[in-house]
Amino acid sequence: MMDDFVSDEERELYLRAIGQWGIQAQLYMVMEETGELLSVLGKYLRGRAIPSQVCEELVDVQIMIRQLAVILDIELKEGGDTSGLNYPRAPDQGASDDLKRRLRYKLDKLKQRLDEDVEVNDG
Ligand SMILES: [Mg+2]
Repeated sequence: MMDDFVSDEERELYLRAIGQWGIQAQLYMVMEETGELLSVLGKYLRGRAIPSQVCEELVDVQIMIRQLAVILDIELKEGGDTSGLNYPRAPDQGASDDLKRRLRYKLDKLKQRLDEDVEVNDG
């Protein structure tokens, strides 16, 4: 399940948040925190924010991304309550394997691009 992406303690906290505030509210939080990171990163690039301010928003986004993974896992594996949400039901498969597979693929691609770039610059 999510265990290798999110620790049990973390998952427990996210489940409480999802239970208390609902999936929809938490999905809005993903968008809100992502926007805050974009905003502070823009300020940082213009010299109007310091690294610790970027770090704070980075951590907020990390938390919401990990919470999103838990939400997707609930949705995919446990048939969570999608009332109020308007999207087609996903196939009956957990998010963890999918996330791991995609992360592996993208990390391989990043390594490949880095290796190719080194070859170009060395050539
Ligand atoms: Mg924030």
